[in-house]
Amino acid sequence: MNITIIGSGYVGLVTGACFSEMGNEVYCVDVIDEKIESLKQGIIPIYEPGLEELVKTNYQNGNLHFTTNLKEALDNSEICFIAVGTPMGEDGSADLQYVEAVACEIGESITHDMIVVDKSTVPVGTADKVDKIINEELKKRGEDYKVVVVSNPEFLKEGTAVMDFMRPERVIVGTDDADTIEYMKNLYEPFTKNHERMILMDVHSAEMTKYASNSMLANRISFMNEIANICDEVGADVDQVRKGMGSDSRIGHSFLYPGCGYGGSCFPKDVTALIKTATDHGYDAKLLKSVEAVNNEQKYYLVNKIKNILGDDLSGKTFAIWGLAFKPETDDMREASSIIIIRELLNAGAKVNVYDPKAMTSAREFYLKDMDINYCDNKYEALDGADAMVLVTEWKEFRSPNFNYMKELLNNNLIFDGRNQYNTNFLEKNGFEYHAVGK
Ligand code: NAD
Repeated sequence: MNITIIGSGYVGLVTGACFSEMGNEVYCVDVIDEKIESLKQGIIPIYEPGLEELVKTNYQNGNLHFTTNLKEALDNSEICFIAVGTPMGEDGSADLQYVEAVACEIGESITHDMIVVDKSTVPVGTADKVDKIINEELKKRGEDYKVVVVSNPEFLKEGTAVMDFMRPERVIVGTDDADTIEYMKNLYEPFTKNHERMILMDVHSAEMTKYASNSMLANRISFMNEIANICDEVGADVDQVRKGMGSDSRIGHSFLYPGCGYGGSCFPKDVTALIKTATDHGYDAKLLKSVEAVNNEQKYYLVNKIKNILGDDLSGKTFAIWGLAFKPETDDMREASSIIIIRELLNAGAKVNVYDPKAMTSAREFYLKDMDINYCDNKYEALDGADAMVLVTEWKEFRSPNFNYMKELLNNNLIFDGRNQYNTNFLEKNGFEYHAVGK
């Protein structure tokens, strides 16, 4: 099949690379010239395990093309996927300007019938809006091609995106058009084990499923953060509580980990957007508002703990931050807890050393650009002369560090662990003062 993917970011690039790996001819389009040029040279603008190899192989064998020319890509395709960003707008709703601009371009460019798939996370009613925009543009041109707009929200996780796309737990397809259902079944067949994992539904329900899923996951995190905060007050250990709770099959173990708040490009904006959608329809989403409020506070958890122990004025103190990305195995720092933690430490007069295995460039050039911090080449360099280590992202390389060497480097054997990675007894026996979440 011949496919155009519009938007070559985390979702678009993975989608394009995975479709091309199955033998489809794929055109990945983006508006950023430099991005397209570096992709052609095999330089992947994001860190995502397994992606580079997939992109290079399929570009070299001619299945994968990169272009800024949408019209040319659409001329060669029978289906196109919209995978552009839908960031949080000023009023909390999903900002649809990129999706709408793409819809307009599709309407201006197509020269034959087209299946248009919304893969971006978009509020209920967006497929109708996209359909309307495309048809208005076609009308202006006096053309009457058949356009079917499908909702096919993406559930990949940054860090395991290629694996998630190749072996999805489910593929949601929202459309009522019988031919399009057949087309989508064939397209996804190599990934979905004879359609067992494809769930067909109406377009509005498909759009809603994505928001409901992300809000549920955010809800579990905020719930556990609240339990952790209560554990702190009553003297219980949230890790033991978590194991006890998770063993109930109705609850399960996944997404029960407390920490210093969720971030990333999806949960924060999607929860906020769903609250806004509800409000616009006259419904007060009380639970979702609490999920958001708990998370916003949780991002201050570590700083509050540090100040409780070391005082509000942190001048003269240096902190070693391990991990900047919003989660391990990605360089993505959108809405990362590290941003707030570092800003608050600096505001309290502290000095900050940072190290992350993959997010140093995005931190330096964008997310922490205006902050006066010391970028280190490795995790141990960050500890040298620091008063405490603060673990923010649970990268594998932070899980079993050389604690004896850490003691030599740190001024004080003090660890603040925002992801509950270490064993309290072990660290205390080895002379560390260890503070984690909800223990
Ligand atoms: P991203 O910011 O990484 O990529 C978006 C890309 O679209 C950028 O490269 C941008 O230059 C390009 N773009 C913008 N306007 C364009 C246009 N007119 N034509 C062509 N390209 C254009 O975003 P992302 O993280 O890939 O997210 C895309 C969508 O997928 C969002 O709606 C997001 O909520 C959703 N989503 C993201 C994830 C994730 O883990 N990142 C997972 C599931 C769903």
